[in-house]
Amino acid sequence: MTSVSRRLAEAAERIIPGGVNSATRSIGAPWAWRSAHGATMTDMDGGVYTDYHAAFGAILLGHSDERVNDAVTRAIADIDLVGVGTTELEVEAAQLIVDAIPSAEMVISTMSGSEATFQAVRLARGATGRPYILKFQGCFHGSYDALARNVISTPDRAWKRDPNSSGILDDAVDHTLIAEFNDLASVEELFALHPEQIAAVILEPVPHNVGALLPEQSFLEGLREITRKHGTVLIFDEVISGFRHALGGYQELCGVTPDLTTFGKAMGNGFPVAGLAGSAEIMSNFTPTGGTVMLAGTFNGNASSMAAAIATIKVLQDPEVDFYGHVYRLGDRMRTGLQSIADHLGIAARIAGIGSVFVPYFLEGEVRGYRDLLRNNTEANAAFHRRMIDKGSFMYPMALKRNHISLAHTEAHIDRTLAQAEDVLAAMAR
Ligand code: PLP
Repeated sequence: MTSVSRRLAEAAERIIPGGVNSATRSIGAPWAWRSAHGATMTDMDGGVYTDYHAAFGAILLGHSDERVNDAVTRAIADIDLVGVGTTELEVEAAQLIVDAIPSAEMVISTMSGSEATFQAVRLARGATGRPYILKFQGCFHGSYDALARNVISTPDRAWKRDPNSSGILDDAVDHTLIAEFNDLASVEELFALHPEQIAAVILEPVPHNVGALLPEQSFLEGLREITRKHGTVLIFDEVISGFRHALGGYQELCGVTPDLTTFGKAMGNGFPVAGLAGSAEIMSNFTPTGGTVMLAGTFNGNASSMAAAIATIKVLQDPEVDFYGHVYRLGDRMRTGLQSIADHLGIAARIAGIGSVFVPYFLEGEVRGYRDLLRNNTEANAAFHRRMIDKGSFMYPMALKRNHISLAHTEAHIDRTLAQAEDVLAAMAR
């Protein structure tokens, strides 16, 4: 690490806990950044990296996209935040989302994914009058108490009581049930144990917080059937998959329509915006419609967030841009390339992913559920990402972390990264 970055990181540490504004930004070395444009980011000492971290997936078009930045600049020249009634920007953004997402008849805007999942859980509890939430080991849904359980658990704690923070009331932890992804029997068991008590089943349709577990179609269809039978609200948390894998999120690809959908991250290409959408029937439980579930947020629907979302969605819709064609093509090139390098070197690795996302797992055999990820060689996984950073391709240096390709990446970026990966993996194989 170089000197200007180190000085800034040390200054941050004196006045910001750990020197970072979100725990997972702390990655064992002091990083400080000067700029980010397109597919690259530059640290305070001029080190340039091809960025596959993409701010945990919040960057979809590339950093500082001019179309988005210009739209925000134009919007805030006219209006910032008024705080009563609505604006043209809010209506336009809501219409684009309702048109794009299959489960969306009505939508609210929030400032973060955590607020969206918080509102979704409260809405499900308010609408059903039931106390329990069912989530899956390995899925992350933000920092809200009811959902802060069993994300990345060590083998001895997986499926057991494993909140990822202190300060959470026992009641909140114990009212969140944990099932196994891609395993309907584990879901049915919990429904049998808590009849008419489960308000919502929430899942990342593709659990990207542990890389890329791909859902079995029968699992998603089964969840739809079980939740319908039990009068439980089905929530797809598409904060990562939404807008990234398809304009309508993963639900567009799998054809299974949940009752509620949360989304965020990529939809504003780096600007803070997220939301919750669902059927008019359920969304009408919010207080502004005369329901009983409180909805509040000073900055919700502000002009810069709405303008960023509108501009990003319009780029995604543009057939001339062909966003999805581009990132799916480059994603395939990267996954195939990495897999063939690993195979050639005799390294036990499985390159998982979908579309713009690629995830190197260091393990043998199939990956179906969280249980399989316990076989991942976490040291090799983190070491690969760390060594790729040293070569100039920024990959978040922890095991099970996904990498993202944006519209700003080119074949040349992918091929350069593959050449670097060949060096790194060859050294690791020695
Ligand atoms: N849901 C999922 C699937 C996420 O990955 C995240 C964040 O990583 C969240 C919700 C929370 O979003 P935010 O960090 O914007 O609060």
